[in-house]
Parts: sequence; C-alpha cells; structure tokens
Amino acid sequence: MGSLSSEPRFRTIQKFQPNYTPHTVTQYESQRTGMRVVVVDQQSTKLHGFFVLATEIHDDSGAPHTLEHLLFMGSKSYKYKGFLDKLATRAYSNTNAWTATDHTAYTLDTAGWDGFAQILPVYLEHVILPTLTDAACLTEVHHIDGDGNDAGVVYSEMQGVQNTASELMELCTKRLLYPEGVGFRYETGGMMEQLRVLTADRIRDFHREMYQPKNMCVALFGEINHEQLLHILDEFESSILPDIPSPDKPFSRPWIESKQAPRLEKSIVQKVEFPEEDESFGQIEIRFLGPNCADNIAASALNVVLLYLAGSSAALLDNVLVETEQVASGVYYQIDSRPKIEIGFSLTSVETGRLTAVEKRFFEVLNDAMSKDLDMGFMQDCIDRQVRIYKFSAESSLTSFADYIIADYLFGKRDGSTLQELATLEAYTETLSSWTQEQWKDFIKTYISDAPHISILGVPSRRLSEKLKADEAARIEKQKEHLGADGLKRKFDELETAKAENDRAIPSEVLGKFKVPSTESIHFPHTSSARAGSALKIGKPQNRYQEIVDSDGKNLPLFVDFEHITSNFARVNLIISTETLPLELRPLLSIYFEAFFALPIKRGSETISFEQVVVELERDTVGYIIESAANLGNVECLRITFQVEIERYQTAIKWIKELLWSSVFDVERLKAVNSRLLADVPDDKRDGSNMLTAVHLMVHLAPKSIGRARSILVKALYLRRIKQLLKTEPQKVVQQFENLRKSLCRYENFRVLVIADLEKLKEPASSWTSFLDGLDTSKPLTPLSGRLERLSEAGKHPGKLAYVVPMATIDSSFANAIARGPTSHSDPRVPALMVAMAYFNAVEGPLWVAVRGTGLAYGTNMSYDIDSGFIHLDVYRSPDAYKAFDASRTIVKGHLDGSIQFNPLMLEGAISSIVVSFANEQSTVASAAGASFVRSIMENLPDDYMEAMLKKVREIKVEDVRESLRSLVFDMFTPGKADILVTCATGLKDVSMLSSRHGMTANDCRR
Ligand SMILES: [Zn+2]
Repeated sequence: MGSLSSEPRFRTIQKFQPNYTPHTVTQYESQRTGMRVVVVDQQSTKLHGFFVLATEIHDDSGAPHTLEHLLFMGSKSYKYKGFLDKLATRAYSNTNAWTATDHTAYTLDTAGWDGFAQILPVYLEHVILPTLTDAACLTEVHHIDGDGNDAGVVYSEMQGVQNTASELMELCTKRLLYPEGVGFRYETGGMMEQLRVLTADRIRDFHREMYQPKNMCVALFGEINHEQLLHILDEFESSILPDIPSPDKPFSRPWIESKQAPRLEKSIVQKVEFPEEDESFGQIEIRFLGPNCADNIAASALNVVLLYLAGSSAALLDNVLVETEQVASGVYYQIDSRPKIEIGFSLTSVETGRLTAVEKRFFEVLNDAMSKDLDMGFMQDCIDRQVRIYKFSAESSLTSFADYIIADYLFGKRDGSTLQELATLEAYTETLSSWTQEQWKDFIKTYISDAPHISILGVPSRRLSEKLKADEAARIEKQKEHLGADGLKRKFDELETAKAENDRAIPSEVLGKFKVPSTESIHFPHTSSARAGSALKIGKPQNRYQEIVDSDGKNLPLFVDFEHITSNFARVNLIISTETLPLELRPLLSIYFEAFFALPIKRGSETISFEQVVVELERDTVGYIIESAANLGNVECLRITFQVEIERYQTAIKWIKELLWSSVFDVERLKAVNSRLLADVPDDKRDGSNMLTAVHLMVHLAPKSIGRARSILVKALYLRRIKQLLKTEPQKVVQQFENLRKSLCRYENFRVLVIADLEKLKEPASSWTSFLDGLDTSKPLTPLSGRLERLSEAGKHPGKLAYVVPMATIDSSFANAIARGPTSHSDPRVPALMVAMAYFNAVEGPLWVAVRGTGLAYGTNMSYDIDSGFIHLDVYRSPDAYKAFDASRTIVKGHLDGSIQFNPLMLEGAISSIVVSFANEQSTVASAAGASFVRSIMENLPDDYMEAMLKKVREIKVEDVRESLRSLVFDMFTPGKADILVTCATGLKDVSMLSSRHGMTANDCRR
C-alpha cells in the first residue's frame, strides 16, 4: 500500500448514522484538490465504488458520452486497451459506466476490500489521466470504414437510439423545457451529425476542463478500510498533480454557478412523429419543472404526491385512465433531480387518433380531483409506504443511498448540510404527516395540475420510417461518391492503422505485476436455518433458532423452512408445485399471474373491490409478487412472495390465504387483464432476443412446462382465444380459472420459505395454523419436479433441428446453439466447465476479442444450465450471426487443438470471476439466505458446497479445460449434437448458411 507514514490530506466533513439503518455515512474532502469522498459502511460481501463527475456541456457533440467509452482505452501508466478490465477480472471486480445529462459515472464493484484497494489507484488514473489517443477516438467514437459507411462504437450506439420514439420525444421535451445555454437542453450522448464532426481535441479539452479531482465525487459502499482508502487517495493525488490544471485555478461549479432554467411561462402541446410501421398506437410524455431537489421537504412531498397520483392501480390517474376508461395501457412517472426537479409522466399505448383527447383528459382528471376533497387517509398511506420502502431498501440494497449522494454532490450544499438530511426520515414522519389538505392541494396545484407544462404527443409514422431509411441511404451514397476509390482506401488504411495501435498486446509482466488478491477479505455471510412440519423430514438443524421454532408449533404439518437473518422485515415465500396441474389449464397461468393481486375478494358476506384490495396491499406490505420460483431453485414451480415489516408477518400469511382462495374471477376484470396482456404481445414479438427465447422454449420444452405455457408464442395464441371466449361464454372461462385454483391450491403442493429475524418474529410456525384451516393435510407432498422432467424430445436429444425466424422488426440477427450438458451440480465435469466458460466469456477475453472486438456482434456468450441440462452459445445482435458463430467456433477449436495457447494470467482471471459469481449470489444477507435455502432444500447440496466447489475450481489445469472443450463445450459447434435457432432481419441471407453448414435444412417457424 506504499508508505503509510505521512498523514493523508483529507478532512472529515461529517460522520453520522441514519436512525433507520445500521450503516454509517462519512464525508471527506481533499484539502489539496477538493475531491470529495462519501463512504457508506455496511456489512457485505461486495463493495461498490461510484466515481462521479459533474459534466456540463452546451452542445450535442456527445463529448461527455465519448469519454465514458474512451477512459477504458488506457491511462498514462497503463497505455493498453483492455488493461483495466483484465485487471478487474483478476481482482474480483467488474467495471461499468453511464452518461446522464448532468453527470458521468464510472462504477467498480468488487468482492472484498483487498481486490478493491488493489485496483482503485489504477481505476482512478484511467479516470483522471486517460490516454485519449487519436486512434482510440477513431475506433471508439466515429470513423468512416473502407466501404464508406459511418461507424464507431459510440456512433453505432447512438445510431441505434437516435430515431426511437422515446429519444425523439425526450429531445423535444428538453428543447421546449430549457433555453439555449442551459445544459439540460442538450443530448450528452451525442447526435449522429455532430459525432461525425467531433474532433479528438474537443474531447481532450472537455476532459481536461471537467475531469479534475475538484469536480469528482467518490462514493463507496461496503466494508471499507478508511485509513487505507485515504492513503491510497492521497498517494494518487500526489501522482497526478503535475498533469492536471492547478487546483487553485478558478473553476465554476457546474449546474450551480451556471445559467439556471427559468420557470415555464406557458404550456405547450406538441406532436412528434416517430418511425413505426404499425401506426395504430402512440404515446404521451408530459413534463413539469418542480421544486429544488436540495429542498428536502419539497422533494419528499413530491415523492408522496406521485405515489398518490400514479403509484398503483388504485391511484387516481392509473385507476381512471388505465383501469376504468382504458385509454392507455399504463401511466408511469419519473423524476430527475435538478435545481428544478423535472417531473415526467408517460402514458403508453394510446390510440393514435385519441392522443390529443387523452392528453386533455389527463388534466381534466387532475383538476377534477383538485376541486374535490383529497383522500387524506390514502395520502397518509402513501407517506407511510414511502418510509417503509426507504427503510427496506436501505436494509436490502447496498447502494440504496447512491442516487441521493450523486444528486447531493451535483446540486446540494458543499457544507454537508444537505447530505445530512439522510440521517432521518422526519421529513415524512413528522413534517409531511402533519400537512393539511390545503397544503397538499397547494403543492399539487403549484407543481403539477395548474403548472405550465410541456406535452409531447408521439405519433407513429410509416412515412417517416421510410424517409429516414431513404435519406440515410442517399447520404451514404453521396459520401462514397465524394470520397472516391482513393478516399475509401485512405479511410480503410487509417482505420487499420488505428486498430493496430489500439490492439497492442499487454506485456504479461505489466499485468502479472498485480498478484491475484487473496480471498480472505471476502466475507461470505452465514445464515442459520430452522425447520417446521414436514420440512423436518430433511433433517433437523441443531441451533438456537430451531429451538425457537420447536417451542412454537410442534404439530404443524405444513412444510416450512426458516432462514434467520438480522432484519426488520420478513420475506414470506409460498412455493407451489405445478406437477398435477392439468395440461389444458397451464396456458391460463399468464392471466392468473397478472390478475392475482388485482381481483375483487370475498371477505365474509362482503365483496371487496379490486381497488380496495390494492389499497390494502400497498398499506400492509413493502412488496408482493407472483412468478415462477426460478430464483428459489425451481423454474417450474410458482412462488408467491410478500415482503412485510416483521410485525406484519401474520398479515402476510392472511393475505396469501385470501388471494389464493377468496379472489373472485370477475369477468370484467379478466377482460381488462387479458386485453392488457394482449396489447403487450406485439411489442414482445418485435424483439429479436425475446423471440429467440420464445422459440427455444417452444422447441425444447414439453407442453407440461410452465415456462413454455407462459411464453410469448403460447400467449399470442391463447390470449386471443380467451378474449373470444370471454365474449361468448364468459362462465366457461370463469370455470376454468376455478379449476385452476382447485388444482393448484392444495396442501400437498405447498412449501414455505420464511426469511426473517427469528429472535423477533412472533409465532414463526403456529402463525400458519389458520392458513391450513379446511385443508386436507393427509396427503404426502407432491414432488416439485424440475425442468429436466419437462423437456421435449428435441430438448432431450438436440442435434436434429435448426430454426430461422425472419423478422421485419429487427435489422440484425441473434443466434443460439444448444447442446446437452451436466444435469447435476455434483457432475464431475462441472468445475472444468465453469472454468472453461469463465475463460471464454471474460471481458476482453477470447470470445470478446474474436466477436465483439471485430464488430461481428454486440456480444457472444456461453452458458450452462443445470436445471434443464443445456449448454448454450448465444450470439447477441449481430450483422451476421453466421460469421459470429463461426468466429466463436474457430476460437474454441484453436484452444482445443493447441494451435492457440491458453494465457495463464487469464486463467487466473477466470477463477477470480467464478469467486465473484459466488459473491454476487450472496451480496446481501437476504440473498445469501435465499441461496442457502436453494442449496440445502431445493438442490440437496451439502452445506460446504461452495467452499468445496471453489477448491475444485482452483485445482483445474489447462489440460482439464482443454478436455472440457473437447468432450463437452465443442458439442455446441458440432452437427448432430446441437440445435441452432436464429432470429434475423428479413433478407439477411447469410444466416441460413448457419443451418446448412450444420448439415440441416432450416425450418421457418414464422407465425
Ligand atoms: Zn455508450
């Protein structure tokens, strides 16, 4: 860590512990440069670092976004592309970055402090002193290739989004909300026409101006060694001082000392066309300028108001516009923290002919509500809910304070007083709870219902779609003409020279100098289990939590597993086996899931409306969901999950019982849910990657699989049938749902997982007694039965099929090669397979370089899936999936036959990344508890499975990896062993070669 002799030149601004979490927040400032540091200490396996620059620019050049990419191309001391990511892989880390309108953030997440401390100075040097070479700007930002087409990583990215509905509408709102000279007006991602003329010098100037330590906030979350941290930062500052502008040079703080956005004078409604073949539905965006985000009370009030207006299907706008009048498929809101918070509402899937009327209706509904009494009971519910959500996310997410810290850095006070507001939730529990109806109405009128606003009506246009294509083709044609043969040759040479410069190999001693850190600083959380009822048959844990459970409910027959964690919340999961559900009822599950929390309920002689059900659910819980039990270890089971405050454990159980047995399959509700699902189908079928998954599910799974039954292709068929049947014979549909309920909701199908603090949880076992009232508990448990038992013949024996699905809605291709792999975690082939795949999948690893690096695809990835016993090769978004597949095959073949050598440093990196995958699985205590349940109950693995597996993984040698490639991985490229699925743009001719190369004829499964 260098010398620890001199005292770091950082002063502590403040240190406090919020009264609703066990975390400590410490804020520092460098006395030399003004760099600011916020550390949130909390127990965890992972550490997260955010490096945030306040980046303000007054043009659409995209300079901020280009830097986000260029920083990873090398730094003063490490002038190699990919060095940072290769080091990150070895140091149990992942890197990422994003560009917002008002800031650019770089992230580093690491398992364990040792790895984090190792990479931190290198990471910081890349941020402050990147190389920013001409060559890197050429390949990463923009260039013209030898064929005369515009390309470049950032350019292609913006090409993909610039003409989408959301981007076109967003840009229009920016232009109308903010005048020239206010940074929020501009597209910091870069507009294509400006990226084409952006110079490397402009990018370097912008970097020098904005990327100074005094304009940077380092926010860290996890188990941090403060003393070491400050020494690393201090040393880092010493190392860069000669290369940065003098810290004493005047610098005006972005956003705060800049021209401010004026209030809006009047409302504007404007139409914006977006390219779309199907002209039936458009969308609406509405924007307001709200209070200052640094005004804690006002910002908190806004959160509450948005929940009140649009936070659930029982809230005003959703209830009227979506549920009752059905003029939009959803009302969503978002806020952007700013000196005047930007408040946005989106109305989705609005009939094109009704856009104007629906926008008016939005304000009518608001104004009508303001002329009547507010529902102050519901308002208080919203306040309480907001507080609950804060507490829950502070406890369950490592980075829950990140957004607040970033906004505070950008817009808050430098004396720390605005950050200090994190300390309590009194703004909600005290101040806002005492607000009168008049105060709330004033607030809503001031900032929303009576406020000037910008409304954008997004109109789909086939004509625009055609025009954009024609204009672009003409521009390229002209460009080629202008360049001529000589010009094109020159462009080709320039690009090749730049690529060669960028791709200089990293000398192994440079990387090897950084030893792989020990895993000692990675602290995996330990949870303890206890069991009740038939769960005891698996074995009885010997610990004090088991005693607590034993002393409560001795005669409970229900299968209940408890995982003890320190928490103020209980997570209650009911897992339901679908083994005995009749085949013909399975396609109903999509509607059943969607309707589960949104149906009326019979309570005694009363019927509670679905709105009231939603209001009560929101009041009683932090969250609730029904889905497949995939993340509890069985993708073919259902799971109902409630997250509640620990005192509401019994309430959660009561809810599960009511929702299972007392919901009313009301025909009108079923119609509404069915048509909403149906409206989403075209969207789902537009996406090449989704469609690929859907085809895989159809081909490789049997009709018994609920994954298949809920897939897009089955939905597309059944939802239409049910829509028809709801019109003609509604009672028949209702009867089918009753049958579904009868067949699912049986004692023998149930297993329960409770993750909670057993020291505090009242009546952990006996609370379930009433749940079982009236149930026949005499039958033995139904087996859970996994996906392995629900494969189709093709799934059991792949190697005979190839499907090519041409799609008019995409302009690239996606492919999936599928072969058989291990079906058990204890299969001796697993450790070598894990290492082989981690090696090939690494960022800047062999597949990345061969496929992504050459522009053959956005990405390609190998994976294995023990539950279904498949191994996959995925090609994501490729101009030619065949070439990408072939390049993947060549690179694997080369390693297999010895013509390409394994890189020992990257092999170490592969093992590090397996350690990280285990750490990710248990990044919080709650997820560790879930993982423990999956291992011990669902997968029947020994307690020390993870340690034993890591030990085996570390013992894997190159020869083992090669053997895994030979005997297993290469099956994905072998005709007769793998099935090939492709989705591609219509007319993308070469992909069909993929199947013929594979010795198969393609099946066209367009539908
Ligand atoms: Zn980007």
